[in-house]
Amino acid sequence: MQERVIIPLEEFPEEGLLIEGEANGALFGIDNTGAQSVGPLSYSLEAQLYETELVLRGSISAPFRMRCDRCLREFDYTVEIDELTISCDVRGKVAADVTEDLREEILLELPGYPKCEISGLECEINDTFCDFRLDKDPHSGVNSATPSGNSVWDALDDFPRK
Ligand SMILES: [Zn+2]
Repeated sequence: MQERVIIPLEEFPEEGLLIEGEANGALFGIDNTGAQSVGPLSYSLEAQLYETELVLRGSISAPFRMRCDRCLREFDYTVEIDELTISCDVRGKVAADVTEDLREEILLELPGYPKCEISGLECEINDTFCDFRLDKDPHSGVNSATPSGNSVWDALDDFPRK
């Protein structure tokens, strides 16, 4: 599988060029417990050359395995961008390597704090009963109630008296 997405600029057709294919997901350079690339970057783009500017329009996608920030369960999540438009300065070039541009667009769409919900799963750790989310205002969780109506922090208040 190709490692990079390179568009030849010599004898570029006036009506544009359709470039489609897949590039090795290793280009993302992501392989950790929170997010892992598990497939290729797929692209389908219309390329147009305007003198020194190359404009790409189309869609790209790439699958990842992510780990839920709350319950630590792993799930699959595909980043899909359907109406992508990028342009690059190709002055003096015979070919445009747009790998970095596409990579960046995908990485920007990757959630920083992934939750089960983004893949349509129900998180095992329900927000109603547990407020230990990292992206939440740390003060707002203090008064949260458990199903019994007691604050989860009541147990802590009782502790010194026992
Ligand atoms: Zn979860």
